[in-house]
Amino acid sequence: MVQPVRLPALPLHGGCQCGKVRYAVSGVPLVLYLCHCTECQRHTASAFGQSMWVRREEFSLSGELGHTRRPNSSGETHGHFCPSCGVRIFHDEPGSEEITLKAGTLDDTSWLFPAGHIWTRSRQPWMTIGASELSAPAEPESFEPYLARWRDMLEAGAVAKM
Ligand SMILES: [Zn+2]
Ligand SMILES: [Zn+2]
Repeated sequence: MVQPVRLPALPLHGGCQCGKVRYAVSGVPLVLYLCHCTECQRHTASAFGQSMWVRREEFSLSGELGHTRRPNSSGETHGHFCPSCGVRIFHDEPGSEEITLKAGTLDDTSWLFPAGHIWTRSRQPWMTIGASELSAPAEPESFEPYLARWRDMLEAGAVAKM
């Protein structure tokens, strides 16, 4: 029995805290997971990041963005944020077909439930992870199990809605 996720009507809308940056997601997100790495803890100023993959071609944005660059294991991660209020909107790698949306910036976050957790070895000690939840101590070798679990969760949510 997977956790049902009830996807709201598309497009999804979101934006930064001051409202100068707004965006829309016109397609079904590919996955949502929580990242407990220290980079996410720092850039969110919180306990973990909420990473939602969406197709770049299904993501549209209005407003100006500032940018950060950080090396990663396969190249470089770019962070895109509102220069007025500082809220991080998404991460990407140059040329990638997907972007990683910071899901806490969605207008409606009430339906979000993660498919799993990554970088659990640096999670906060009070953060308990259920035995049935997907998790990886660091960067997983493949995200395919997370994408598959997310598809099952969406399917379960769609059935429950009828
Ligand atoms: Zn802003
Ligand atoms: Zn992270």
